[in-house]
Amino acid sequence: MKIKVCGMRNPDNIEDISQLDIQFMGHIFYEKSVRNVTQKLPEKNGSHKRIGVFVNAPYEQILETVYFQSLDGVQLHGNEEVALLKKLHSAFPNLILIKTFSITANFNFEETLPYEGFAEYFLFDTHGLHPGGNGITFNWELLDQWQSRTPYILSGGIAMQHTHAIKQLKNKPDVLDINSKFESSAGIKNTALIQQFIQEMKSKYSADEAGFYGEFGGAFVPEMLYPNVQSLKESYKKLIQEPSFQEDYKKLLQDYVGRPTPLYFSKRLSAQYGAKIYLKREDLCHTGAHKINNTIGQILLAQRLGKKRIIAETGAGQHGVATATVCALMGLECVVYMGEIDMARQAPNVARMKMLGATVKPATSGSKTLKDATNEAIRDWIANPTDTFYIIGSVVGPAPYPEMVAEFQSVISEEIKKQLLEQEQRNTPDYVIACVGGGSNAAGAFYHFIEDESVQLIAAEAGGLGADTAHTAATTFRGTVGVIHGSKTLLMQTEDGQITEPYSISAGLDYPGVGPLHAHLFQTKRAKFFSINDDEALAAGLNLCKKDGIIPAIESSHALAVLEKMTFKKEDVVVVNLSGRGDKDLETYINYFGF
Ligand SMILES: *Cc1c(COP(=O)(O)O)cnc(C)c1O
Repeated sequence: MKIKVCGMRNPDNIEDISQLDIQFMGHIFYEKSVRNVTQKLPEKNGSHKRIGVFVNAPYEQILETVYFQSLDGVQLHGNEEVALLKKLHSAFPNLILIKTFSITANFNFEETLPYEGFAEYFLFDTHGLHPGGNGITFNWELLDQWQSRTPYILSGGIAMQHTHAIKQLKNKPDVLDINSKFESSAGIKNTALIQQFIQEMKSKYSADEAGFYGEFGGAFVPEMLYPNVQSLKESYKKLIQEPSFQEDYKKLLQDYVGRPTPLYFSKRLSAQYGAKIYLKREDLCHTGAHKINNTIGQILLAQRLGKKRIIAETGAGQHGVATATVCALMGLECVVYMGEIDMARQAPNVARMKMLGATVKPATSGSKTLKDATNEAIRDWIANPTDTFYIIGSVVGPAPYPEMVAEFQSVISEEIKKQLLEQEQRNTPDYVIACVGGGSNAAGAFYHFIEDESVQLIAAEAGGLGADTAHTAATTFRGTVGVIHGSKTLLMQTEDGQITEPYSISAGLDYPGVGPLHAHLFQTKRAKFFSINDDEALAAGLNLCKKDGIIPAIESSHALAVLEKMTFKKEDVVVVNLSGRGDKDLETYINYFGF
């Protein structure tokens, strides 16, 4: 969609906004408007079209202004007749003519018919006290009933929070006209805010203001939690952009986590698969996996928000350990909820958390696994909304968590870009392959390549005993749309909406849903999803042990197994995200292979 910034009059501000990727700039020539232009506009700098806005002005005045202000187009905002458009067209055949209509609940769209063929655009604005600039939206559903060969400009109170609704419109506008909601004071536009709006409208795969990736995401939380989620949403972007936050975060990633992790070229895998295979070594992070990138980010945020107590839920215990680790580092109280059955199955991780000073609370209801632990954590959060910060471990949960976690993990692809430039003299690979449980390591490995469709994104889900059996965690393959963990996404559920127990030999991929970003990447076919069965993953894991002397986590082995299923060209650059190391999985490897 094109962008028109309207109501511009200040020369410096005009210069700033001209630098942005906008297609039209509107200047108001109407005495009664607070944004009325009274001086000659500065020389145009930028490729946008300069539009003059008039309200029932006489023909001669419009003509004069078009000459004097070097206008590319004219927007007629009053009750102008078709005859005026005809007259203007014969005087300036190249002039862009825009006719405005004020929309009321019972607006008759047939009023536009006489102007068809004479206006290049129709502009629909809210009917208000003044002709334009009222800062209120009209009921956009009215547009559904309108069909025309003239494209339209949507106007009237458009604000940052509308990006989602605009993308969902059935009858899409060609141009968005923004004005009062992007001002820092009357007539002065906020450049950064407009830039952010353009970015959000352009990007196909990032979350919008409401935290939706396409139809997935959002914050489906109990009313009592809404203030928590809302305040986090409002504060986190600002906080993490602060230089002091970035400094602390980068320093800890470097000195404590051990970043940057290497991008390792595997000669022998490259020979085996007939492509240039690189491994991004997240297995070398402190605690043995990528999860720490995220918990470091969230604990710094919790500190800045003045929280005294951290809660988390964990299934296999890995996120619990990563959370307990950063709480020890910062000296904050840590409570980890874990299903009673999981506690028995993952005793070493329970011990680790305790050694790190955390309290592990068993969830004893339901199936006594991850989803019950999640319920307990949410209950705790409701009871302790002011002093407690809830650290979520993947790109799941209510907005803003999926977006926030993806941002903390994005350091993975940020490094890949730099490292590829050094090693391959190009900063994008042909393929990025990552396993997906909730999807955080994949989100981080994809992050800086998502909008660049020349990079093929490949996700490996856990097929378990087979995606067509009852023992699987292949969510996109088996899942349907529903709400899990406060977010609308794809999940495995029964016909009446009960979440089905997933299965995978890999504890970290044993999750019945997938983050909303991945549901969107799947639905739009931006990423290709493979389901990898237990057998295939373990074989690929053992292959890496023998070929490179690296014992990978079984989760990461799912990503490696994708290499078996693809055919590459010799010069293809393929990055496999090695999300974690396999020490934690020794027993599973031993039992499976009988070493
Ligand atoms: C937890 C974990 C995963 C799965 O989580 P994502 O959020 O999908 O990344 C993958 N690999 C390892 C090593 C893990 O510990």
